[in-house]
Amino acid sequence: MLGVLVLCSRICSSKLELDDLYTRLKITPCPHCKTVGSLIKHGFLRGYDQNNHLNTTIRAARVFCSNRRVSRGGSAIGCGRTFSVWMADKIKHLFLSADSLWQFLSGAVSSGNKLGAFRKLNSGLSDSAPYHIWRRFLKAQAAIRTALAGLCEPPQIVSDCPAQLTLAHLQKAFKEHPLSPIAAFGATLQTFFI
Ligand SMILES: [Zn+2]
Repeated sequence: MLGVLVLCSRICSSKLELDDLYTRLKITPCPHCKTVGSLIKHGFLRGYDQNNHLNTTIRAARVFCSNRRVSRGGSAIGCGRTFSVWMADKIKHLFLSADSLWQFLSGAVSSGNKLGAFRKLNSGLSDSAPYHIWRRFLKAQAAIRTALAGLCEPPQIVSDCPAQLTLAHLQKAFKEHPLSPIAAFGATLQTFFI
């Protein structure tokens, strides 16, 4: 399936939610063509991650809108496209879990030391990784803030550091949520944090 654009249409907060989605596939409309009854499980997106350096783990599940079924008129019922269902604790194109990303970002902001905060994770990644991840966070910041503004007002804190304000806003928005703030962001807003 390389080279095929796989849209993310869902971020699940837990394995239970993914299982639930699977059981309802036959009554769920395809996000592309809206057909009901054509969705089938289509494997997983696997990758290495932090807690498992040797074997790949499941990062997302793929669902296929089957076009093998044909209507009376001879046209395919499903559209043949694929979409992915991500787990909220995984971050796309990143080896760190959502929890570790949160620890890194909040640690870097509070200590002012990105490398130091990153090394505490013992991720096994190179020392240049925290700077790449930080730049990715800064790029996403405007979108993150816009999304958070729809949930609650930013907290009343005085800071000249935009990253600190963004993370404080994130923490405030999800303080009651059972998942860590970045996983909660994905599961609640159905959009990738970075
Ligand atoms: Zn479809």
